[in-house]
Parts: sequence; structure tokens; C-alpha cells
Amino acid sequence: MLDRYLEFTNSAFGKQVAASLGLPSPPRLLRATAGYEAAPLAGKTALFAADSAATATAATLAALKQLGAAVQVVPSHAGFASVKTGAQASGVELRNEGSETEPLPPVIVFDGTGLAGTKGLKEIYELFQPRMRKVAANSRVVVLARALADTDSVAAATAAAGLRGFVRSLAKEIGKNGSTANLLEVSKAGDAWLAGPLAFFTGPNSAYVTGQVLAVGDAPKGAAAPLHFGQSLAGKVAVVTGAARGIGAAIAELLAREGATVVGMDRPAEEGALGATMAPLNGLGLALDVTAPDAGERLASELKARFGGADIVVHNAGVTRDKMLRNMKPELWDMVLNINLGAILSINERLLQSGLKPGARFVCISSIGGIGGNAGQTNYAATKAGVIGYAESLAPILARQGMAINAVAPGFIETQMTAMMPTVNREVGRRVNSLAQGGLPQDIAEAVTFLASPLAHGVNGRTLRVCGQNWLGA
Ligand code: NAP
Repeated sequence: MLDRYLEFTNSAFGKQVAASLGLPSPPRLLRATAGYEAAPLAGKTALFAADSAATATAATLAALKQLGAAVQVVPSHAGFASVKTGAQASGVELRNEGSETEPLPPVIVFDGTGLAGTKGLKEIYELFQPRMRKVAANSRVVVLARALADTDSVAAATAAAGLRGFVRSLAKEIGKNGSTANLLEVSKAGDAWLAGPLAFFTGPNSAYVTGQVLAVGDAPKGAAAPLHFGQSLAGKVAVVTGAARGIGAAIAELLAREGATVVGMDRPAEEGALGATMAPLNGLGLALDVTAPDAGERLASELKARFGGADIVVHNAGVTRDKMLRNMKPELWDMVLNINLGAILSINERLLQSGLKPGARFVCISSIGGIGGNAGQTNYAATKAGVIGYAESLAPILARQGMAINAVAPGFIETQMTAMMPTVNREVGRRVNSLAQGGLPQDIAEAVTFLASPLAHGVNGRTLRVCGQNWLGA
């Protein structure tokens, strides 16, 4: 559904009206219009700085080099020596930052993995504070922290945690011009897997992801790092449930964009719409209700027979049946629980017996409602919180078998589900986030595609919010 307010305030006249009345002016977000390039940052410059004892500078610079970025540095910054050490180790050529009048690069990366205590936090202040007025529209800020469990002292863990608050607040400040800021909490084993998350968070693919903290750790057993980023899903088979329309259709489209063959599943009543979605993708439509008693069996045998198994499974099918708990009939409770949660567990149980290829990756769609809760959504929120716990607890088991599972928690997304909301609720839902607008199905699909791909080998058991830093559950 078109966001008329965003369209209006982005017109010349609307801009003036919004400015004179002091109304919010949602920025136009820069989204990807094609798949990942082999080197996604080729032709772009990244400003890179670090704290004075940072331990991931070599790994971060090597990743930026692999992404094709030119690297600009600040010789007067306190952490410059650690940047130089990293550059020597990774063979990256550094350029000094230009004069004050030159624009700031659209990508800014700060490696804060060596903070020994709270005093060290001043080094991130010293990098950003003088440059805040120059942050260009749709810039990408990525900060790296050492995972708390991998820090050497309580003081270091405290400082690392401090970066969470810094990044979340920075995201709120720079969101006004469509810029994003996110934090990667990297375990020592995660250093080797940084390039993929950096590709996602520095690119147009993460336009609606901001103020988030994502843990990057070791990859599942046997995983190989991607050598290039374009068409990373070529040769893979991906299943998407609820693929006929909305977010599911967008997920199917983007997985196909990165080279996957897609099997879309939806209820038999949606067979026509499913066929229309899958045809341009050369995908396969499977009219199958996820709650059918034989859904797992039928899916597994189709996959086995046609493709030898699936590499990616995206559990997207979901429904809302909102009622205050006092008015909620048992059938509404059961329906939502069965579709949104029960079906995921039973289909996966069957697929894990047979129906998957080595290195399979699962992505489940949760919701920020499962994080913050919502009056009238006890059934829905229980399922969406359950999905988060499911991914977290299944991940270590899957990792030992070379597989991974993650979840995506959408905020307010412009779909049929949200178009049906009362007007006032819809308007509020759109604006209560740092980017002052709803996300698009494409935004969820980009996050799912990232998590389904080798770019996210270091991400397992996590839930990534795609919500423009929605205030719900923040
Ligand atoms: P949607 O437009 O209603 O699409 C959901 C799709 O799933 C529909 O095609 C639907 O078919 C299908 N489906 C429902 N029950 C099914 C079943 N038993 N078996 C197979 N397919 C089934 O919803 P959406 O907005 O794209 O949402 C997709 C996912 O994102 C859901 O899990 C939702 O909870 C989550 N989410 C959405 C938002 C948002 O703002 N839109 C926010 C947070 C989370 P029918 O049309 O026949 O029902």
C-alpha cells in the first residue's frame, strides 16, 4: 500500500510544508535494484577507524578489500596505529581522509574490538562527533565489538556493551536522512566470517535494518567462505512457505535473484496466485497447507524426487487472528499456534530425517510482536517469540551437522496484512521507528536472502530485526 505521506513530503511542495509545520519528513531509502555484485563495494570508499587496541583490524580490512572498497583512514585518530598494523597484515592500501570540505564516504566502519575499559569509548566519540554533520543520506555505519564472552575482563565487557547503546542512539540520530547504524558483536572465531555481514550491512540490501546488534561467530562444520558475492545461491534449491503473495513472494523473488531454484508453497486456495508468483521465477509451486498432517512428508518426497533435497528452507507462512485474551476463542488460539509455530517444528522434524542437502540453512519469520508483545496478540506473539527460542536452541545442534537456523523479525511492513489495519493504527505503525516509514516486503526478503546464503555463515541461532528500529520491544 502506497505511503502517501512519504510521497507528499518527498515532493518539493511537501518538503516545504513539512519543514514549516515541523512535521516528520520520512527519507526515501536507497534499496537494491539488482543482485549482489561479485565485489559489492567496488568503486566505493569506506572510512575505517579502530580503537587503539582493536584486535580485528586485519580481518576487517581484509574483508573490505574482498568487497572491493577503497579504504580511507584518519591518521590523527587515537587508534590509527592499530589500523596501520591491520593494513600491513592484510596488505590493504590506505588513503588519508580528505579535507574538512570533502564529503564523508558513504560507508563508515569502526573496529571497537579492543576496548579495555570505559575510557576507550572516548575513541568512538572522537571519530564520529566531528563528522556527524557530514553524514550523507543513506550512509551505512557498521561498528564492531568483541562478543562479551570473548572479552578479557569485566571492564572490557562493559565497554563492549557500551557500544550497543552508542550504536542504537547513533541510528536514531542519522535515521532522519535514511542512514543506518548497526553493531556486529564478533567472537574471535567470527573474525574469519566478517566479509558477508559487512557486505549486507554496508550495502543497499539492509536499507530498513538499523540500530541492530548481530552476533557473528564461527561457521557451521564444513562451511566454506564465499569467494565472491554475486549469485551466491546458484545451484541451490530453496523452499518458501506462504509464497503466493506479500513477504513470501518477495522472498521467493530475491532468492531467485541470487541464483536459487525456488519451490513456493501455499494453501491450495492460493494455487492461482502461487502459480503467478512462481512462473516468472521458473520456480515450482506446491499447493500444500503447512498444517496438513502429511505436509512434511509430501514436501520431503517432492524435494527428494525432483532435486535430491533442499539447501534452504524459509518458514514464512503466518497469520494473525487478533483478539483480547478475554475474548479469544480456542479455535483462534489453535489456528495461529498451528500455522505460525506447530507447522515449522513438524515440517522441520520430517525434513531433518531426509529432504535436505548438506549445509542446509533455515530461516524462520518471527515478528517484533514476539519481542515487545501487543495487546490483542497473545496467540500471535507466543508463536513469534517461540520461533526466536526455536532458532536459538536448535542452532548449536544444527551447527554440529553443518547446518544453520536464524530468524527475521519484521516490524511494520507494507503488505495486505497491514493494509487491513485501521487507518490511525496504520499511520502510527509506519512512523514509530527511526526511519519514520514502513518497510517493504523486499526489506524482509533481503534479510532472509542474506541469512540463507554463505554470506551469513558466521550467523547462527540469531534473530535479526528488520523494522527501521521500531520502538516496539526496543
Ligand atoms: P500475508 O500477506 O497474509 O501472506 C501470508 C501468506 O501465507 C499468504 O499467501 C497465506 O495464504 C499463506 N498462508 C497462510 N496460512 C497458510 C498455511 N496454513 N499454509 C500455507 N500457506 C499459508 O502475510 P505477510 O504480511 O506477507 O506475512 C508473512 C510473514 O511475515 C508472516 O509469518 C507474518 O506473521 C510475518 N510478519 C509480517 C509483518 C507485516 O507487517 N506484514 C510483520 C511482522 C511479521 P492465505 O492468503 O490463503 O492465507
